[in-house]
Amino acid sequence: MNKKIVLLSGFSALFLGVLLLCGIDINLGKAGKVTSSFNNIFIFMFIGFLCIYISRFVKNDIYKKCPKCKKSFANSELDKGMCPKCDVETEDIEEYYKKNKFKES
Ligand SMILES: [Zn+2]
Repeated sequence: MNKKIVLLSGFSALFLGVLLLCGIDINLGKAGKVTSSFNNIFIFMFIGFLCIYISRFVKNDIYKKCPKCKKSFANSELDKGMCPKCDVETEDIEEYYKKNKFKES
């Protein structure tokens, strides 16, 4: 999961909550219309604050790179940090580029 996405959904929900609070009805197309009622305002505000709160605990996925096949993986895809193809330990992508900076240029 990505921290930015959670934070962004939180702010969007909060923004919709503020619109409802101002008495603006939100048209969601096929899903219908959200009217400016106390319940709807409460729900959107609640979801908004909840997402912003949760985002504090969300860790961005770490990306790793295999030194052998040079493929990049998200840490969550890997089993104990080993490359699924070569069975070699993967390196942190930033570390990898720091190490290989001189070789490539
Ligand atoms: Zn590999």
